[in-house]
Formats: sequence, C-alpha cells, structure tokens
Amino acid sequence: MAYEIKTEIWKPKTDIGQKVMDKEIKDIDEIINSGKTILEPQIVDTLLEVESELLLIGQSKGKFGGGQRRVFRQTQKKTREGNKPSFTTMVVVGDKNGHIGMGYGKSKETVPAREKAIRKAKLNIFKIRRGCGSWQCSCKEPHSIPFSVEGKCGSAIIRLFPAPKGVGLCVENECSKILTLAGVKDVWSKTFGQTKNKINLIMAIDEALKKLMSTKIQEEHVEQLSIKEGSIKVDKQEEPIAEPEKVKKEDKEEVKTAPKKETKSESKPKAKKEAQISKADSARRTESSSAQKQEVSDAPEAKLQSVKKDGKNK
Ligand SMILES: [Zn+2]
Repeated sequence: MAYEIKTEIWKPKTDIGQKVMDKEIKDIDEIINSGKTILEPQIVDTLLEVESELLLIGQSKGKFGGGQRRVFRQTQKKTREGNKPSFTTMVVVGDKNGHIGMGYGKSKETVPAREKAIRKAKLNIFKIRRGCGSWQCSCKEPHSIPFSVEGKCGSAIIRLFPAPKGVGLCVENECSKILTLAGVKDVWSKTFGQTKNKINLIMAIDEALKKLMSTKIQEEHVEQLSIKEGSIKVDKQEEPIAEPEKVKKEDKEEVKTAPKKETKSESKPKAKKEAQISKADSARRTESSSAQKQEVSDAPEAKLQSVKKDGKNK
C-alpha cells in the first residue's frame, strides 16, 4: 500500500525526474545513453511498462537436504538475545522488449526486503542487444542474441549462445525468467561451477547480458546478425497496434452507423404497416417494446423512442 501511495503522489526530486514529469524525456534510452544514473524508480514506471518477478533464491527448512525453493532466503545471526533472522530476495524487472534490471533487497522482514529489491531492480535497468547470431537460422529477426557472451560471479560461470528459432530458452529456471523478461526467445547455455548458489548465478547472467552492450561490434555485423539495441521493436509494435486500433474504431463506427440505418430502414416500413393495421396491435407492440426497453441499454431506448415517434407521426 505504501508503495502505491508513493506512485500516486510523485514529486520528482532529481533533474531527470522533473524532465520525465514534464515529458521532455519520452524514451528511457535517452537516459541510458547519456550515462546518467536513475535515482527514482517512478521514472522507469512512467517510461516503460515493466513487469516484475521474484526469483527463487532461498530454500525452506527441513530434513533430508532442505525443502523447496523459496522467494526469500532466510538467514540468521546469533546474538545474546537469541537468533535474529533476516530475509533476502531478488527481483527481475523487464519490459519483455530489450530492457532488464535486477535488484537485491535485504531486511529484517519479508515485505520491506521485496520493496527494496523492486526499487533497486528499477534503478538498475539497462538495455540489451538482440539479434540472430545462429548460423543454423537464416532469419533476420532479433529473437535470440547476436553473439555468445559469458558472465561470472564467484565460481558460477554462465555462457549464453545464440540459438535458431523454436529452440526456446535452454537455461536454468531462474535465468530463463530473466531472459523472458528481457525479450530473448531462443538461447543455448552452458554453466560451470557452483550453480546451486542462485544469487551468484543471477549476478553472472547479469554480467553476461551487460556484455551484450559493452562488446564492440562492426558496422557490417549490424545487418548480418540483425542486431537491435534496446526496444527498437517497440516502434514496430506500436505501428501495428495503432493501425488495428484505427481499424477497430472504424469498424465500430461502421457497426454503430450500420445498425442505425438498418433499424431505420427496417422500422420505417414496419411503422407504415403498423399504421395500416389496427391500433390495438400497435398498443401491444408498445407494451412489448417497453418491456424490451427495460432490458436494453439507454442508447437503443432512444432509437426505439425516435422510431415510435416517427411511426406515430406517420
Ligand atoms: Zn534466427
């Protein structure tokens, strides 16, 4: 709840925040390209439609080697008063279109730990390069990564390879959540070291994904591998989305106008016939129409009324 209240009443404290509020900055890539740090999570909320997901980094307690994977990693500190537990969690935030961020939060209770992690994930947002670097796939769509990358944290090492279409995400579960939110669809991977420590594995894939942007590429490869930075796809998506909306609107208008015409055209002859037929029938019809009126919404009522008036006039 506290978080919602914050988003409702956002008073930007930083320069970038104010510019976003005034709609001077409309694209998050402007901020990322300038190298400035984002200090307010609301900036990301306003510029991108992000989805967040909690990663399973903990483990429930139990016999026989522990229990199921949990969202919160629970640790304890021994003190004179007793055991002091603390909770840790990791969150991925992404727009499924080339922007991704990961955050780590730790607190004495679960909810503040999650809030911290979401906040940090939004502040750590960065863009990735997508493409099709697979020699088995001759398409020119950015469904995979353009070249293989490697990341490392502690002993956990992860390598990501471009894969042809239809392969899916051949990665560890938590990493596949991250790649889904980043907008990568096909990838092969290989890991080395202690990958059961999920925090290190996630940090490793974070490093690997950041290498997609930091690696220098030649101009000729941009076309060959169909490399696209960040959410260039958004423009493509916006156009088709905008067109169907227009089409839909047109359709709706047509639909709205068409029935009116039909009703009028159909109703007028009916009204004439009604006038020819005795008044009793018309009275019955008014009764039935009034019963229909109650069922139908306001707009049809008006139509019916107008039709009736026409009929009566004639
Ligand atoms: Zn391909």
